[in-house]
Order: sequence, then structure tokens, then C-alpha cells
Amino acid sequence: MKKLLFFAVICSLFVACRAPKQPADLIVHHAMIYSVDSAFTVYQAMAIKDGKIIALNTNDSIMQCFSSEQIIDAGGKAVFPGFIDAHCHFLGYAMGLQQCDLVGTKSFQDVLSKLVTYSQTCKTEWIVGRGWDQNDWTDKTFPNRKKLDSLFPDRPVFLVRIDGHAALANREALLRAGIHSATKVDGGVIEYTFEKDSTWTLPEYRKDIAHLHYPYWSPTGILIDNAVDMVKQVIPDATAGTTESALLQAQKNCFEMGLTTVDEAGIHKQDVELMDKLQKDGKLKMRIYAMLSDDSANYTYLNTGPYKTDRMNVRSFKFYADGALGSRGACLLQDYSDKPGWRGFLLSNPEHFMKYAKLLYDRGFQMNTHCIGDSAVRLLQWIYNHPGNISLSKNGMVIATPNTAQTPVKERRWRIEHYQVCNTADLKNNHGIIPSIQPTHATSDMYWAEERLGKDRIREAYAYKKLLDAAGMVALGTDFPVEDISPFKTFYAAAVRKDSKGFPAGGFQKENALSRRETIRGMTIWAAYANFEESEKGSLEKGKFADFIILDTDLMTCDENAILNTKVVGTFINGEQVYKR
Ligand SMILES: [Zn+2]
Repeated sequence: MKKLLFFAVICSLFVACRAPKQPADLIVHHAMIYSVDSAFTVYQAMAIKDGKIIALNTNDSIMQCFSSEQIIDAGGKAVFPGFIDAHCHFLGYAMGLQQCDLVGTKSFQDVLSKLVTYSQTCKTEWIVGRGWDQNDWTDKTFPNRKKLDSLFPDRPVFLVRIDGHAALANREALLRAGIHSATKVDGGVIEYTFEKDSTWTLPEYRKDIAHLHYPYWSPTGILIDNAVDMVKQVIPDATAGTTESALLQAQKNCFEMGLTTVDEAGIHKQDVELMDKLQKDGKLKMRIYAMLSDDSANYTYLNTGPYKTDRMNVRSFKFYADGALGSRGACLLQDYSDKPGWRGFLLSNPEHFMKYAKLLYDRGFQMNTHCIGDSAVRLLQWIYNHPGNISLSKNGMVIATPNTAQTPVKERRWRIEHYQVCNTADLKNNHGIIPSIQPTHATSDMYWAEERLGKDRIREAYAYKKLLDAAGMVALGTDFPVEDISPFKTFYAAAVRKDSKGFPAGGFQKENALSRRETIRGMTIWAAYANFEESEKGSLEKGKFADFIILDTDLMTCDENAILNTKVVGTFINGEQVYKR
């Protein structure tokens, strides 16, 4: 029977491949091609034409049926669909490449010495840095602006924490942002100190706010969430030329890591337009799924509708329900374990999220909301499940009849970004909301997250397997530049639950590890599905874009210790090689 079947296959191949051979632009053979199709089929060879895959089969079959001037012998190496980072900040990362890099600093003194060196070559008036994390220091309290003020009395300095949800500003930066002794901000915190502070005197040019100034009540320089934006807004924009070169450098780094699509989690209209132009000029080859930020200028898209090319897809909005766990801005159902009486906060009123959920629902846009705390998750799950039932009235929101028929959230593919702490009782209300999660957050935060959450609640955090079981799929990303851009760190953290130091030996809450197949799907086809792009990418199948990577290590079978050393040998987008090792 087996022989007969084999004979039948040979016959069908013979019939399918009568001469002359079909022309292709590229043939890859002698490979382990993990197609990541629904059966997880592995092929030996594939043929590509006009940027798309036209056939996958055995070496013999592909070589007999197709001819090409470009033939790659993969030497038995593993080929995967190009990686999709389902949640990152591509532009922020790009711009960060031009800022003072504070990632990995060991103390605040370390930060200061880096800044002094950087300031000597920094061409802009503002000194902007990013990536400090007081949890990595011996002294884990937030730093203050005093030493910054003495080093840089006239030059504004703005240093964003690793999670982007907190920042340290010096006196000059605070003054330029109009932050004084009595400034208040909704959805954010300006930290004040009551000790007598002789440095907090107003310069001549800010005498306009002298009446608001209390000498014994001065900002420490620490800003949380919406307060961070107050300073960001007054930093002069980079020129288009600077942004362009930053983006091209960022894409180069991403190609080296095997990324072929990035989901930009919160971006402005003018940046979408710049990226789109760079793509059309053939300079930016990276495919981008752009989530628009929650900003009135971006809402013009609601009138014009989604925008899509082969490389740019704009059909979603990114909201922030709350802040981050590290800076205690995540909105929790119960008190922080290390700060009794404090539960964090929402960044906007629930009505704001309801209003836009309704609008996005009516206009066919996807809603993607950053939720870290279990309270934020509970609220947004509820809103996601009911947008069609929300009706707006002048004096606020009225929830119309719950029987109103609406498209289920599963079909709308709405996403919760991070889904970091989810009360177990709320898992049943997921109803197919896509968890867009970042496995390296688990292995970065594991050192201190239990202090914030306590020993019981930590079990409900970073619970990726439970989220997968509830939702049926997960989209994986890194949130770079909050984390490193490497997808191999994502793979390792998801499947092995250890950080790059190999800690902890048994894996962090190993019951929430994903299998290697689930992890690869999360980095490819499920991420594509979360972007409504599963029919064009995310797996290597006939008719899909030829976005693929060749690796020197087979992620599906290698020893777990080899995962982090994996190197990309080649990255291809649309059949074009964009990176070669
Ligand atoms: Zn993010």
C-alpha cells in the first residue's frame, strides 16, 4: 500500500512538471522549511516568483519543475516565516538609537557619568536619555534631579525609564514644560518633596508663575505616565532627515534579527505618512502594522477608513488603560503588596474607552489597549465585549439593551496589549480577545514583580499558557525598546521561561511556558492573524509573501542552551534578500 502511494505521488509530480520548467525568481532547496501551516508541514524546497511563494515540495520536485538564476542551497538549515514583532515601538527604538543609552546602568552615578560623556558629542540642546531602571541598582528608590541640576544647570535633561512610563527631568526641563510647585496632571503623577530646596528657585524668565511657587514644595524631577508627556511635548521634533536615517538604522538591526514585520504600538499620523513615503521610495522595506495613538489628529482615519498597502497597514488604534507595574502605575483590583492603600490608576476615565470602543466598533477599526493591572484588564474586557451595546448620551454613557446583536469580539480580533495581570475569574470573559504578550517582560520583571503583587497574585501574572488556553492564540512581541529587539530572547523566555543569564534554573512559573510550536506560531501566523494578515503572511504557503529567514540553528529541535546563540543567516522580504550574514 505504501509503495502504491509512493508511486502515485511520483506520477502526480511527473504529470505536474512536464518540461519546460516554470521560471522562478528564486529557489531555496536543501532546507528544513518550517511552513508553520495548520499541519506544521516541513518541506525541503520552495520556489518564489514576483515576491510570492509559488510552490513548496521536495528538493527533487522543485528542481524538476522550476528554473531560476538564483538558487540558494540552504545546506540543511532551518527556514522559518519572517518573524513578526506583534508589539514594539519601532520609531521610538529608532529615535532611541540617537539618544543616550542608559540600558544596563548599574547605579544613578553610572547614569550621570554616561550623560557627561554623551553631552560632549550631543548636537541638540536637549539631552535625552532612555533605559534606566532603578530596580537594577543597589539603591532601588527613584533618583531625583539634584545632581542633574548641578551638572546641567542651563541645559534641559530628560531621562526616560526603561518602561517609558516614568522619567526624570532636571530643573530646566521641568521649567520649559511649565511644571512648577503647584502643577497637577490627570492620569499621571508629578512627584514633589516638602524638604527645603534652595535649587528650586525660578529663573527671571519664569517669573510669570512666581505666584504659584512654594519654596518648600518642589518637584523631585520624577514624572509618571501623563506627566512624562508634558515634558515630551516641549522637546523640539527631530528633523525628517534625522528620523529617516534613524528608521533605516533600526530596520537594519531588525533584519539582522530576522524581523520582517513590526507592529508599531502607538504612532502619529505624520509618522505613518513618513514611513509610507519611505516604503514607496523603496528605502524602508520593513512591513509595518501601524496602531494609531489615541490622539485627536489621528481620528481623521475614522472618516477616511483603514489604509493598506503591501507594506503598511493602518486599521487599529492603541490606547493606554494604565501604566506599568515597575513604576506602580498599573491599575490593580487590590492594593500593591509593597504600597498599602495604593492601587495605581487608569490613564483616562472609563467613559473615554467606552466612547472610542463604540466609535471604532461602528467604523470597523481594531481596538488595542495596553492593560497591565488586573483592574484595567477587567474593565477593558468588559468594554470589548459590549461596544455595540454602548450608546452615547449627552450626560455620559448609557448602556443600551444587552440583547443588541453585535459582532463577537473574537471576530473583530480586538487585542489587549500585555495582559500582564489577569484575575483568574476574568479568564472566562476573554471570549477570544487576542492577548498580545511579551515573554521577555516575564523574565525581566520576575526579580521584583512579586514585591508589587505578593506571592498569590504573582501566579496570575505573565500567565501566558492560561491566556493561550482562554483565547486560542497569542501574538508575541518584545515591546522594544523596553526590551531587547531579539526574537530569540522572546522564543527562549516563552518556551524555557528563563532570562538571558539562564535564570532561574527551573524556569519562572514554568507551568506558563508555551511549547516551541506555540511560540513559533505566536511569532508568525498568530501575530499575522492579530493583524488581519494571515492570508498574506505568517506562514510559508503558496500565494503568500516570500518573507522568510534562514537560521543557523533549528529552533524546533535544538538544545535549549543553543536558542539564544541562534544567528540569522539570511532575511528575505518579498523574495528579496535584505540581510546576509
Ligand atoms: Zn509598548
